[in-house]
Amino acid sequence: MTMMKFIYGPIPSRRLGKSLGISPIPKKTCNYGCVYCMLNITTNMSTTPHMHYPVADIIAELKQVLDQNLEIDVISIVGDGEPTLYAGLAALISNIRLLTDKPIALITNGALLDVKAVYDACLLVDIFLPSVNGYDVRSFKRINRPHRSIGFESITNALARFSHEFKGELWLELMLIKGINDSMDDFLKYKSFFKQFKYDRLYLNTPIRVPTESFVLPVEDDVMQLAMDTLGGIGIGDVHTNGFVSAIVDDFEAIVSLIKRHPMNQHEIDHFLDDRKVTDKVAIFKRLHDDASIIKQTYRGYVTYRK
Ligand code: SF4
Repeated sequence: MTMMKFIYGPIPSRRLGKSLGISPIPKKTCNYGCVYCMLNITTNMSTTPHMHYPVADIIAELKQVLDQNLEIDVISIVGDGEPTLYAGLAALISNIRLLTDKPIALITNGALLDVKAVYDACLLVDIFLPSVNGYDVRSFKRINRPHRSIGFESITNALARFSHEFKGELWLELMLIKGINDSMDDFLKYKSFFKQFKYDRLYLNTPIRVPTESFVLPVEDDVMQLAMDTLGGIGIGDVHTNGFVSAIVDDFEAIVSLIKRHPMNQHEIDHFLDDRKVTDKVAIFKRLHDDASIIKQTYRGYVTYRK
């Protein structure tokens, strides 16, 4: 693990594998003040992208880390706040490309997608992970507490358009909070709202770290399960659900049954097999490779399996 000013990790991510993080913005710089944010109150509420640091400084640090030949699966642009508030995002992504062929992921609230320069920069990444927590103005304001200049309709339309134009993997993330957006009525509203987006995955989360507001509580396991069943999403809270679970005893058959419903990447299968205490993971991966009925998609060394 390397600690620097802009780069951190690599840290293990259940979704992304060994993820090397890049934070191009100062701490707690955001255009939202989400009730569940684990970074606490947004101290630097801003909605205009700024060149907080020179791209060259971030890239120099990245180069230093990459020169150590660490094992890395993905480069994630994330930050202690909202990374699209970095005005050098497009240049940063293009320069990362010159240093590595690893996939680049962007974790964002998507609130600036209606700004052309941000929209265009976001098109450059390989995996786009926007959080979408409101299905209407009221739920949006209640959960995300956005900067007053951010319009729910405008950013929703922008994300819908983006999702159809984007060529990489788009993984939506929804945070479920007890008593706030965890009823069947909420789930049905999300279901209909999400129809306008073209996405590859939906991850369902619930606050498991200390949130900004003490009234924010995680949903119960049975509620998470109901949400997963209703929305077709994957749970990612590491306390409340391990995401991929299967009652099928045979490890290979369990994976086949899961990827029939939802694609899994190599890291997710790896964690799934770890959870089941499988010792010969190589044999399982070989069977997956040898099985012609399983579609393998490799992109920048990142293998996704689907059936
Ligand atoms: S968008 Fe992210 S960083 Fe910003 S307040 Fe919400 S959870 Fe925190």
